[in-house]
Amino acid sequence: MKKPLTKHNRIKVGYQELTLGIQSATFQANNDSYGEFDHRKNTIQITEGLSDLDYSCTLLHEIIHAVCYYYGLTQTGQPLDTEAKEEVVINNIANGLTGVLKDNPFILKELAQRLHNVR
Ligand SMILES: [Zn+2]
Repeated sequence: MKKPLTKHNRIKVGYQELTLGIQSATFQANNDSYGEFDHRKNTIQITEGLSDLDYSCTLLHEIIHAVCYYYGLTQTGQPLDTEAKEEVVINNIANGLTGVLKDNPFILKELAQRLHNVR
């Protein structure tokens, strides 16, 4: 597993700690994606060679997958209990958040300061 651009490659989501890595691009199958959250391996893999915008959106997307999984939203009877529902909801939330954060860069700084002050 290659490492991401920054020195940080551990992401805590709820009780779990995930390893963030960069995976080689194959794009040989129609279902190849830009990223993957694997709850069995506790990993998030982002495909190498993405633009910074695609990398950012994909990382948010996979983190949201992890949040939904660890907080039970993908279990039977819950709002995201099919892959189709999960993918539509997560894709739109990740795309929307990426746009908001791209268009309003102060928000990340604001959140970092306020969340850091919580501890
Ligand atoms: Zn997805």
